[in-house]
Amino acid sequence: MAKAEYERLKENLAGLNLNRILEVLDSHARLAQERETSYTDYLDGLIQEEVAFRSDRGIRTRIKFAHFPFIKTIEQFDFSFQPSLDKRKVEELFTLRFIDNKENAVFLGPPGTGKTHLSIALGVKACYQGCRVYFTTVPDMITVLRASLADNSFERTLKNLTQPSLLILDEIGYLPLDREGSSLFFQLISKRYEKGSIILTSNKSFGEWGNIFADTVIASAILDRLLHHSTTFNIRGDSYRLKEKKMKLFTKEGGDT
Ligand code: ADP
Ligand code: MG
Repeated sequence: MAKAEYERLKENLAGLNLNRILEVLDSHARLAQERETSYTDYLDGLIQEEVAFRSDRGIRTRIKFAHFPFIKTIEQFDFSFQPSLDKRKVEELFTLRFIDNKENAVFLGPPGTGKTHLSIALGVKACYQGCRVYFTTVPDMITVLRASLADNSFERTLKNLTQPSLLILDEIGYLPLDREGSSLFFQLISKRYEKGSIILTSNKSFGEWGNIFADTVIASAILDRLLHHSTTFNIRGDSYRLKEKKMKLFTKEGGDT
């Protein structure tokens, strides 16, 4: 190809935002020549590169937007350590059909039993599949909503929390919510009801939720909407964090003797 046409080709690729093709153009052309690839196969190879690159970039962007505190996958989860957890039911959740159906999932259990791990793993998988996900702890979300009341951006903030197809609300129950906090939480749940999925984690059983919220009426109104289409996992096992700690102590003692 003449130099002028080659320059024009590169300019046009850049102009059309086909940056990945621009990058691999020369190496693909060399390979095509060596292998005597057909024109259509050559073109197909280039387009495939661009498509793969864009979907990868999409995944990275979605994971960044989700604000996960750390990244975990289901493959890293040791089910044998948590026998109270129904593995099949968890695997069903990981098909992510619940997101299509706008249903919710709730993980209840004591600290260290993998509630946040499983929620993040679901969120990461959803990002891979093209869903918009947002992760926040409940105390952080309430702080943001309160601040938005003060500067008149409440509606916009609520809308932002309604847009992602999956909202992960971690750690409800560690701190009780006052009347305003409870009302803000209720508004969020109502706004997302049957419109988008929520994953919620808590160290409190549903019976104890009356103590999290300002009164039992608002607690039952929240539970009513949250649980209407939802799957609950009651994890009753030991803390994985403590297991790791015990293992370390054990190895240390073993080493000393
Ligand atoms: P929770 O949210 O229930 O308090 P986390 O999900 O934060 O607990 O788990 C605490 C730590 O232990 C995390 O690093 C998590 O990856 C790990 N962990 C918990 N349960 C398991 C498990 N069954 N298999 C592997 N790692 C686990
Ligand atoms: Mg947690």
